[in-house]
Amino acid sequence: MKIVVCVKQVPDSAAKVVVENGKISWGDAPLVINPWDEYAVEAAIQQKEALSGTVTAITIGGEGSKDALKHALAMGADNAILISDPALVNMDTQATAQVLATAVKKIGGVDAAFFGRQAIDSDSGLVPAQTARLLKWPALTLSAVIKVDGSSVRVARGVEEGRQIVTAKLPAVFSLVKDFGEPRYPSFMGIRKASRAEIPAWSLAELGIPAPASVIAWPEIMNPPSREVTCEVITGGSPAEIAEALANKILAEKVL
Ligand SMILES: Cc1cc2nc3c(=O)[nH]c(=O)nc-3n(C[C@H](O)[C@H](O)[C@H](O)COP(=O)(O)OP(=O)(O)OC[C@H]3O[C@@H](n4cnc5c(N)ncnc54)[C@H](O)[C@@H]3O)c2cc1C
Repeated sequence: MKIVVCVKQVPDSAAKVVVENGKISWGDAPLVINPWDEYAVEAAIQQKEALSGTVTAITIGGEGSKDALKHALAMGADNAILISDPALVNMDTQATAQVLATAVKKIGGVDAAFFGRQAIDSDSGLVPAQTARLLKWPALTLSAVIKVDGSSVRVARGVEEGRQIVTAKLPAVFSLVKDFGEPRYPSFMGIRKASRAEIPAWSLAELGIPAPASVIAWPEIMNPPSREVTCEVITGGSPAEIAEALANKILAEKVL
């Protein structure tokens, strides 16, 4: 099975993301592989272990985002490709999907493309389905269980109401949810292999496409309004007294 897994580099989930002079900043917080993409890498490696084949990790980003690819290699991916071009900035999800779909076609002979359910920085949750549409492949989003049988696949999707069983033909796009199971930690040998890995970089010219047009612009990015939070400690001679005082306060504040 020939699998491509799309990983994104994002600010660490503990990062304090602020807007300074109209630009997004996360201070000196580390950049990490998008946590949802670790589930996608894990799922891809499990398919490879079960059905043999290869796993290629790809990312769109600057030179620094090679670290996200190295994390996927250290987990067990076989190859990695960086897609990088000065024109690939401020793209919307549709444009991102177009670049990823083109890369999957260029790799060729791909049976499955794995994604995280969403990215923790811009949280659209759109790129997997948009990429599937551009490839004209089924979009098996929110995959929690994946069973491949020849050229068919059966997936249990993790939806709010529980599990939804869907079947489709490969090639297909999958996005992964946490129910899939804990991603493995990169092994020492894996980290060493990743640190020595040659990671080719593809520009738009190598992809053979012009910079895709974005249809959604972010004309202005701003910090959310800061909330005034005051804390009042309710005191009293007994729990009953405190409870009564609290109830009166809540009623006076018309919370109830
Ligand atoms: C500085 C900045 C400016 C931006 N400006 C705009 C703008 O003007 N208009 C606009 O609409 N959006 C803008 N964005 C958001 C941008 O559209 C999204 O970050 C990008 O399209 C990916 O969408 P997402 O992260 O929400 O992914 P989701 O739709 O949540 O998809 C998640 C999955 O897609 C895959 N994926 C996502 N990104 C990548 C990647 N780079 N490489 C490989 N796989 C990936 C991963 O598997 C990931 O788990 C901007 C973002 C930044 C950081």
